[in-house]
Amino acid sequence: MSTVLVLVEQFHGSARRAGLECLSAARITGLPIVAVVAGDGAEKAASALGKHGAGKVIALTGAAQWSPDAVARDVAAIAKELDAKAFLAAATATGKDIAPRVAALLDSTLHSDCTGLRSEGGALVATRPWLAGKAIATLRSSAPVFCATTRPNAFAATESGGNAEVVTRPASTDGKAVVTAIAEKVGGKLDVKEASVVVSGGRGLRGPENFHLIEELAAAFGSAATGASRAVVDAGWRPHAEQVGQTGKTVSPQLYVAVGISGAIQHLAGMRTAKVIVAINKDADAPIFKIADYGIVGDAFEIVPALTRAVAEARKH
Ligand SMILES: Cc1cc2nc3c(=O)[nH]c(=O)nc-3n(C[C@H](O)[C@H](O)[C@H](O)COP(=O)(O)OP(=O)(O)OC[C@H]3O[C@@H](n4cnc5c(N)ncnc54)[C@H](O)[C@@H]3O)c2cc1C
Repeated sequence: MSTVLVLVEQFHGSARRAGLECLSAARITGLPIVAVVAGDGAEKAASALGKHGAGKVIALTGAAQWSPDAVARDVAAIAKELDAKAFLAAATATGKDIAPRVAALLDSTLHSDCTGLRSEGGALVATRPWLAGKAIATLRSSAPVFCATTRPNAFAATESGGNAEVVTRPASTDGKAVVTAIAEKVGGKLDVKEASVVVSGGRGLRGPENFHLIEELAAAFGSAATGASRAVVDAGWRPHAEQVGQTGKTVSPQLYVAVGISGAIQHLAGMRTAKVIVAINKDADAPIFKIADYGIVGDAFEIVPALTRAVAEARKH
């Protein structure tokens, strides 16, 4: 029977949420799901994937170093052995590194950064924002294997119950490119792409010394990430890793709070698929209000501390 093969990323033996979301997307296909996990900790991560819908998990073990081309070759070989109808991975940095290689090895097209997936008359159809989010593209494929990456946060990482058969398989060790070192992120901060709540600040905050307001509001939400507009990243107020937008990261959180951000088209391109958008801006005509679900017209220096107190208070109950 045809299957859908899902590459699930893991870190230190725990499946990454974007990978679990990808398994949820795979369940939409109605096909049996085989998951592949690779890297140090793959076996440990494999056992948890059954409850997210995988019927079988293949853990690629034994590679001393991470090699995207070796992992891609192993995944493509498994897809061929299974005669997989579809291959899915999350559109994370790792997924973007591996999925195009897998698609090429399978002689297929890759639909990247998809936010929707459905089965139509037995064929898979993906959707994704196009032209900086101004249009939604509907993507079909006549390629032998339907290959797609799913945008983090676009699908809910729900559990379906169940147990997976876990098998190990020796990973290829003859990769041309190998990762020799990984620098841990400073402070272990949550990445904007993966957070379900993102609080972003723009030039309206006047200077880097005022971004504690953004950090405090993010902290009040519990596990929120901090983001930034390009104007403040270019000014050196915030690190590039926080930049949201066309030339930064694309995010789809449950909640996006834009503080002192005008809402230039290039910023909107990176956050317009957020489920709920809250904008705080002292200019009632700021373009961000056109796409905001909730808008607060006023001075961020008054509103953000009040909002932080209100969120912290609400979370106590
Ligand atoms: C090729 C290209 C790519 C780009 N890529 C990106 C990208 O990836 N991401 C991105 O963000 N931008 C990007 N830009 C830049 C983009 O066009 C804007 O210049 C940028 O987003 C503006 O940032 P901002 O909203 O912080 O600043 P501004 O446009 O200066 O807006 C500041 C806002 O703060 C408000 N404000 C001021 N004081 C207060 C206050 N006290 N309280 C509340 N509100 C206040 C103002 O009313 C204003 O709306 C790109 C541009 C180009 C040309």
